[in-house]
Amino acid sequence: MKNAVITGITGQDGAYLAQLLLSKGYSVTGVVRRSSNYGLATQRLDWLGVTDQIKLVDGDLLDPGGLCRIIRAARPDEVYNLAAQSFVKTSWDQPSLTSQVTGVGVVNILEAVRQEAPGARFYQASSSEMYGLIQEAMQSEATPFYPRSPYAVAKLMGHWMTVNYRESFDLFACSGILFNHESPLRGLEFVTRKVTDAVAGIALNQVHELRMGNLDATRDWGHARDYVEAMWLMLQSDFPDDYVVATGRTVSVRDMINVAFSHVGLDPESYIKIDPAFMRPAEVDVLLGNPEKAKRVLGWEPKTSLEDMIREMVDADLARRRMR
Ligand code: NDP
Ligand code: GDP
Repeated sequence: MKNAVITGITGQDGAYLAQLLLSKGYSVTGVVRRSSNYGLATQRLDWLGVTDQIKLVDGDLLDPGGLCRIIRAARPDEVYNLAAQSFVKTSWDQPSLTSQVTGVGVVNILEAVRQEAPGARFYQASSSEMYGLIQEAMQSEATPFYPRSPYAVAKLMGHWMTVNYRESFDLFACSGILFNHESPLRGLEFVTRKVTDAVAGIALNQVHELRMGNLDATRDWGHARDYVEAMWLMLQSDFPDDYVVATGRTVSVRDMINVAFSHVGLDPESYIKIDPAFMRPAEVDVLLGNPEKAKRVLGWEPKTSLEDMIREMVDADLARRRMR
């Protein structure tokens, strides 16, 4: 039986990754940061029905000593660093915290692995936001980065630290440059889930408008369930490396909204209001990933279309709202 440690286990990807690893027979240790609302932290794991099978331990990416103790006790074969302040818009309001957690936090967990389990394989959750002001129409592992938010700058630090620890200390450290991925477990502040939850509310006559920012931005959206499989595959490979994980298709926020509204037979025009509060100081206008390397080396391919995913999310939000 393999041991895995997941930071960020209470987040969207942490929940799906834990489910995947458990299905493969792993023993999973999940790092949870202390909260006065502790019982609420496991909501996503509860939704997938896996909470009882995971060993949850208290820890924070900002606390190096605690991370060392966790890694020493777990004796992991694989460590997945998914924890981050992950919401781009918040990163302008909390740039220092975002730099600490999303950037320096990666150094803290890499150091813990280097000191306590140097033979463990390490996965870093890097982001397509690092491409920011895109330097090539389709972004691959070779495309230069141009981050456009404190979040993206911090992720770039984490990415290069991962590469540096691989080259300096021979750690089996991989950086997955994942494009946006969503699911019914996505946080409500992100655009897809904000839309699917509002559409469900409108369909049930509980919500009457939807305030949005820039509808012209386009994203390469995939399903989190598919993307956690790519994380796992990277750590099963013969060599540590960096991989773009994407669908190779980009869709505007406007068109994504249309998919959600048409699923419940409604016209978005009647409900959408543009609100400057949701505009960003600097926008990432277009993201489009080239997943060719992940396909060729890892045999990974996305399985879920944007349309199927958005419909799954609307249905899940309808069910949640009906239960309230
Ligand atoms: P979420 O925001 O859903 O989850 C983030 C997780 O990090 C939560 O478990 C959160 O805990 C935890 N966390 C935050 N701060 C700390 C801290 N100081 N110490 C320990 N844990 C902390 O993100 P996703 O699951 O969507 O994403 C997973 C990772 O992948 C993130 O690093 C994200 O930046 C990155 N990524 C995500 C993409 C996406 O489209 N989803 C695209 C590319 C990269 P809590 O529950 O207590 O808040
Ligand atoms: P990001 O790509 O990590 O920033 O993921 P988000 O889901 O937060 O945003 C995706 C895109 O949707 C960005 O270009 C946003 O500017 C755009 N967008 C437009 N309106 C909104 C909104 O109301 N909320 C969010 N979160 N994003 C919005």
